Amino acid sequence: MKKLVFVGLFLFQFTALTAQDQNSPNIILMIGDGMGLSQITAGMYSIGNTTALEEFETIGLAKTHAHEQFVTDSAASGTAIACGEKTYNGVLGIDPKNQYLESILEYSQTQGYLTALLATSSIVHATPAAFYANVDSRKKYQDIALQLSESNVDYFIGGGRKHFVTRDDKRNLVKEMSAYEMVNTLNKFEKSQSKKIGFFTDDDEPKRLSEGRYPDLDKLVVATLDKLATRKKPFFMMVEGSQIDWGGHANELNYVLSEFEEFNNAIAAAVAFAKKQGNTIVIVTADHETGGLSLLKGDVARNTVSGRFSTEGHTAAMVPVFAFGPGASSFSGIYENTSIFKKMKVLVQ
Ligand SMILES: [Zn+2]
Repeated sequence: MKKLVFVGLFLFQFTALTAQDQNSPNIILMIGDGMGLSQITAGMYSIGNTTALEEFETIGLAKTHAHEQFVTDSAASGTAIACGEKTYNGVLGIDPKNQYLESILEYSQTQGYLTALLATSSIVHATPAAFYANVDSRKKYQDIALQLSESNVDYFIGGGRKHFVTRDDKRNLVKEMSAYEMVNTLNKFEKSQSKKIGFFTDDDEPKRLSEGRYPDLDKLVVATLDKLATRKKPFFMMVEGSQIDWGGHANELNYVLSEFEEFNNAIAAAVAFAKKQGNTIVIVTADHETGGLSLLKGDVARNTVSGRFSTEGHTAAMVPVFAFGPGASSFSGIYENTSIFKKMKVLVQ
């Protein structure tokens, strides 16, 4: 009799634990760097008056200002989204009182989540770095690389290999990261059976898509989701369309448009996964707007659009937040960008 009670209790606990795990949704956070409403609008018309963002039923607006600075940079806004605190421009994962912050990626790891980071910049660039690094300057790429090597992220894809192997401290982090299989093609990434994979797409910053950047972001999203889906654990994945911002800084609308089109395809791939897999929320936002883009002329039938940039820097315009999947409704309304972290954290609990 005693034994039966014990077995019953064990079964109950086991069932409760499994149910809890099943309730934790997968989170796919997609950040279009510098992707304000004008960039989305221009991109939408340029690809035939349609965007994957029209699938999203919940839309909110996030305020992007940094701590004591009206216009944010990608480090402060990345920290706000990743860690839930406003900080100074240029700072990653540290608040204005010099306290180190835990990111949503790190928190999700403590809750049994798998994690993945994908970017079309280097993987040590400000936005992806906000999810694993604590440094007082976004320019300390070698320190950031060291922190990625110690972060336990399961899959990472991006440029910047040189910061891991050509270092002032003479360390070779690629060699030191013995838990990882390092690959250099999409094919090798897809075929790898390893539980931790690093894929450097470039030694330095990856090229523009229009100059031959490879592989396309949507293919990388699909390949990573294929791996995560087989692992029987919930996951947190951050995908950055990094170079929409660089097109804004260059004041080149065509650069913005081609980078948006690729990011849009990646969003479509993530939504298709969420629909098929279930229990997956896709959140798409931007860290800030870049270029102060205004759209002044266009032809819907011919998929053309033209406009004018008002700055080579960022602007303070609010950015849209799109959410699809379980828990999406909490992302409607107007809120600080730090709330994106808090809303995701509630989902992970
Ligand atoms: Zn920028």
